Amino acid sequence: MIASDPTVSLVSFYINGAWERPEDRSGGTIVNPATGGAIAEVPYADASDIDRAVRAAHEAFLKWRDVPVVDRVQVLYRYKALLEAHHGDLAATLTRENGKTADDARAEVRRAIQMVEVACGMPSLMMGDSLNDVAAGIDCKTIRQPIGVCAGITPFNFPAMVPMWMYPFAIACGNTFILKPSEKVPLTPTYAIQLLHQAGLPAGVMNLVHGGKTAVDALLHHPLVKAVSFVGSTPVAKYIYSTAAAEGKRVQALGGAKNHLIVMADADMPKTVEAIIGSAFGAAGERCLAGSVLVPVGDAAGPLLELLVERTRNMTVGDGSRAGTDMGPLVTSDHCQRVTGYVEKGVAEGAIPLVDGRQSKPAGSGGYFLGPTIFDHVTPRMTIAREEIFGPVLSVMRVKTLDDAIELVNRSPFGNATAIFTSSGKAAREYSSRCEVGMVGVNVGVAAPMAFFPFAGWKNSFFGDLHAHGKDAVGFYTEQKVIMSRWF
Ligand code: NAD
Repeated sequence: MIASDPTVSLVSFYINGAWERPEDRSGGTIVNPATGGAIAEVPYADASDIDRAVRAAHEAFLKWRDVPVVDRVQVLYRYKALLEAHHGDLAATLTRENGKTADDARAEVRRAIQMVEVACGMPSLMMGDSLNDVAAGIDCKTIRQPIGVCAGITPFNFPAMVPMWMYPFAIACGNTFILKPSEKVPLTPTYAIQLLHQAGLPAGVMNLVHGGKTAVDALLHHPLVKAVSFVGSTPVAKYIYSTAAAEGKRVQALGGAKNHLIVMADADMPKTVEAIIGSAFGAAGERCLAGSVLVPVGDAAGPLLELLVERTRNMTVGDGSRAGTDMGPLVTSDHCQRVTGYVEKGVAEGAIPLVDGRQSKPAGSGGYFLGPTIFDHVTPRMTIAREEIFGPVLSVMRVKTLDDAIELVNRSPFGNATAIFTSSGKAAREYSSRCEVGMVGVNVGVAAPMAFFPFAGWKNSFFGDLHAHGKDAVGFYTEQKVIMSRWF
């Protein structure tokens, strides 16, 4: 349904350099999760929209790949300046549709801008190797060439940053791109693409479509799409990986998570508690790097939980756009019910609630709130210990030794992120080395690699070979060629 209410804006597609507002597509309503009020209507692309976008991107690719990389990145320099100028408005849009606090939103936009900054270095990043006289009179060099039309499919929790893990790198390498952001939060990516348009990107190099499975499937099966980047939940990541790979496409699919925070008895408890609060309850726990299982080792539990519970009870839950809010709402009513369902399951299965977030919702609000929740004495068989919750719920699983902690972590089917809190270099080194996890923090609660490092997990948290951003993005969005030359 497309809105008839004139105060609700209609989100557009951006195909071949033009904004389109299709009125006859099915679609969805975007709601401010802090109030429950509708803010926009989003049309869902059908297969014919995807085909037009892909063909436009393919036509544009035939010219864009020949634009020298130093000229391609000029657009990104202008884009970075525009993103900086619109930083505050982008962050406000993000809070309005996703719910995260103003501080979290501003930090996310800063991270997004850093992706563009790194992609601006593509003339150096794309350089190959060369060696003269690999045999008598023969020289050898490698070059990197773009691969064609690339597609990106992104989740609801980082609508400014996650798309930027993809398209600035892809287009700087000489590819063209089609972004299909989460249909729950299309406003922030649309705003960002408006700025890219203003930066003077040629028509067809970047395209934006909205929708769900129909749009995604059309991208996965389109023969002119050469590479697919996906970030989202594990079941969908598996589906994207297997479907796109069977179509002969290059694919990277980042999935869900269940992240463990290990706390040794020798940790600096006050600082550790602050890091745990940020990790478990920042962005309302809707982060693939969020701490979800707290693992106190040996005698750590007593002092740790005493401080943590007191600090958690003092958190302010409310509208993320208001100053002084520590934690905003969950993204949708459905998701809020799902996460609340996990809290109910935790109680039913015998975990002990130390802080029950069902009791700390702001009064009189129509939003989708659940306060921070901590369960103690969680056992491996409980649902809250096994499944990704993706909300502000922290399960405490006590262990006796570091070996027990490592065993617990390595039994998890996920391997996205983890952290250890300790003042022992030996324990930190041993844990970092033996845990089967892609991103590890040592006294860092959210081990989020910066734009110039690669980002991805292990096991069921990642399907593919080359990770997101950093040098891996250059590898993913280019094909390598070896040229051997002899001149007679
Ligand atoms: P999701 O898997 O529901 O959706 C992600 C994208 O896939 C959206 O664009 C959506 O439209 C599309 N999609 C959904 N169902 C589909 C289907 N059946 N077929 C084809 N496409 C489909 O994820 P979400 O709820 O938007 O985001 C939260 C998830 O993302 C969590 O599991 C979180 O851990 C994960 N995530 C992972 C990372 C990471 O780096 N590993 C980063 C951010 C989020």
